[in-house]
Amino acid sequence: MKIICVGRNYINHAQELHNEIPEEPVLFLKPDTSVIKSREEFYIPEFTHDLHHEVEILVKISKAGKYIQPEFAKNYYSEISLGIDFTARDLQNQLKEKGLPWEKSKAFDHSALIGKFVSTDNFYLDNLNFSLTKNGKIQQEGNTSNMIFPIDRLISYISQFFTLKTGDIIFTGTPAGVSKVEENDFLEGFIEKEKFFEIWIK
Ligand code: ZN
Repeated sequence: MKIICVGRNYINHAQELHNEIPEEPVLFLKPDTSVIKSREEFYIPEFTHDLHHEVEILVKISKAGKYIQPEFAKNYYSEISLGIDFTARDLQNQLKEKGLPWEKSKAFDHSALIGKFVSTDNFYLDNLNFSLTKNGKIQQEGNTSNMIFPIDRLISYISQFFTLKTGDIIFTGTPAGVSKVEENDFLEGFIEKEKFFEIWIK
């Protein structure tokens, strides 16, 4: 199983980090060792002093495919979830400055929080509200209608480079509102009113 992540897929988040609006999706991968589940404890790694949450809609691939056309992308997934792309922002900024790959800041152990998956049948994917609360207060809010590259286009694009296999998970990018997490923070993620994960920061 692999995790494919999309960077800068919401204009307001690209702007808050002073990044350019991309003309094509920005992709990076996380290994299977990055996975952490809801209700596990997340320990802030020693190599960062600026760990950020990025709440993102997740899509689980249900059928292998390569060179998938956007109009057929819907045949390749049937479940969505919500997760966090944990990012060591200080380390990422150092790597970006040097033009080096981001993996150390994005793909470390437990950097991919994955919530419960539910059938897409209950959701209108092109207009989904989702949010992250920190210690009970709203910290990030997004709507999938604001994605620069919508889910079906992402799947098509990704599958030109990486064969998608059953069980692969796509992190579709984060909206504005990313912030530092500290010890004892409690994070919860919601799609519309339904909770998809909760996690304690240690
Ligand atoms: Zn992200």
